[in-house]
Amino acid sequence: MLKRTHTCGELRAEHVGEQAVLSGWVANWRDHGGLAFIDLRDRFGLTQVVFRPEVDKDLHGRARELRAEYCLSVRGTVERRPPEMENPDLPTGQIELVAAEMELHSASETPPFEMHGTEQVSMEVRLRNRYLDLRSRRMQHNLEFRHRLMQTTRSYLDENGFIEVETPFLTRSTPEGARDYLVPSRINPGRFYALPQSPQLMKQLLMIGGMDRYFQIVRCFRDEDLRANRQPEFTQIDLEMSFVDEEDVMGMVEGLMARLYRDVLERELELPLPRMAYDDAMARYGTDSPDLRFGLEIGDISDIAAGCEFRVFSAAVAEGGQVRGISVPGGAEMARSQVDGLVEWAQQLGAGGLAWVKVRRGAAEGGVAKFFSEGELDAIRERLGAEDGSILFFVADSPYVCNLVLSHLRRRLGRELGLLNDADDALCWVVEPPAFEQDEVTGEWTFVHHPFTSPRSEDLGKLEDDPGAVRARAYDIVLNGEEVGGGSVRISDYDRQVRVLKVLGYTEEQIQDRFGWFVEALRYGPPPHGGIAFGFDRLVMKLLGVEDLRETIAFPKTQRAVCLLTGAPGLVSEDQLRELGLRLDTD
Ligand code: ASP
Repeated sequence: MLKRTHTCGELRAEHVGEQAVLSGWVANWRDHGGLAFIDLRDRFGLTQVVFRPEVDKDLHGRARELRAEYCLSVRGTVERRPPEMENPDLPTGQIELVAAEMELHSASETPPFEMHGTEQVSMEVRLRNRYLDLRSRRMQHNLEFRHRLMQTTRSYLDENGFIEVETPFLTRSTPEGARDYLVPSRINPGRFYALPQSPQLMKQLLMIGGMDRYFQIVRCFRDEDLRANRQPEFTQIDLEMSFVDEEDVMGMVEGLMARLYRDVLERELELPLPRMAYDDAMARYGTDSPDLRFGLEIGDISDIAAGCEFRVFSAAVAEGGQVRGISVPGGAEMARSQVDGLVEWAQQLGAGGLAWVKVRRGAAEGGVAKFFSEGELDAIRERLGAEDGSILFFVADSPYVCNLVLSHLRRRLGRELGLLNDADDALCWVVEPPAFEQDEVTGEWTFVHHPFTSPRSEDLGKLEDDPGAVRARAYDIVLNGEEVGGGSVRISDYDRQVRVLKVLGYTEEQIQDRFGWFVEALRYGPPPHGGIAFGFDRLVMKLLGVEDLRETIAFPKTQRAVCLLTGAPGLVSEDQLRELGLRLDTD
């Protein structure tokens, strides 16, 4: 076998005259009658190889048979290309390899698409032929980038005293709010393992077990109806620390982010990251994952609207709702059709309407301006910080609808007005969210983060009587308007844990049955502890600046949770079912 001496991205002018062996795939071939050329490609680059009949007539003949994606090794002499043949776009563009010997490892069928320009190819075709898609520069770059983030994370956490511990996949249900993937047990008929939605309880047990600092880059499984950019199995950077409060965890994570930016993106990240209380984020951005790359902050004019003549506004406030809005600089120039388009879109999102006024020459006009006095209009303009030439949009509705519509409107305008172009990444923390939220229909309380998150100690008195007023010692890290990680300080007290589980509707019996194995451990000297988990695929996607999670995962699934390459999930035989004690009840 010809053993390679260099990669296809390595040879330069300084190697001219040397012998080299390259191995890779035929990216392009050109048969110029007299000369045969191929571009040989591997993960590291591309090198032009030329076959000359005067060097070896027989070899030249064989080279003329080469086609796209044939896999081969070739030995030859590095030669400088004639000046007019140099390719300044290619790192190896000054040289070519003049072939003297070739070993063809394997031929290839004509591939269904070309490996360069795969952005033209549909995702479905790419996923069906993923091993070919992986040969594209794009996927190789993406997976290298992912690897680099992973390795840098490992080094950073290792340097900071974390140890990587694996936790089981075949385990019991962990309540993270999604449906479990279940695995039937053959040896224990009628019983099932659950694949972990996260290693949450295991990592807490590791703290109770004295491991002090744990991390894992780990697969998690959630059987959810998939929306775009969700995967049924996904990867977390998961970590947990003992004898810490939220400051310690956030500080450690900021250090990690700065390190990833410096080592992988070669950019400096300014620390500390800005922090925002959950309520503040909701008030100013209408969401708990605000995009801080641009302004367009939301303002509340409910007090002004309460007494105004405009019934839509005053009635909304009277019914316990709000009137909130945003001011869009330059928006006074928007055409009527554009404004109408936004109104219609807001209605589709669930708003009764989207009121507007324009500010020109220091005065508000158009839209709903006629329903307000001069004084009210001045107060509204001031509240929203509206400058001349702006358009102001308002939603009068429940807080939920105001937040929903205004956060979407803000995001849409940020994009359409080009406010995101060239903006630096914006990272921030959103802290102290509510611990519980109430199901609108059933009135039952559910957790916002997860049931093992510690309530703030000053709110403990309200736990049973007013759960909605209890704040959690939780924090989310948000990058350009998307949550990329979340964690909390945990409950490290048996009684408190049981109280919280009871608020969530578990009886003493259910607690013992479902979490007994965990809560019992809280009776044996648990340390104060806390941690966080990053959605690693999402982090890679955001830092890479791509829009589709599947660009960052080697073998992803479709939105229907299907692997197009293997056809998973597949059917199983009657025998397999019988062994598991299962009978199918599907048509
Ligand atoms: N286990 C949590 C999650 O998956 C993260 C954490 O609290 O550390 O979201």
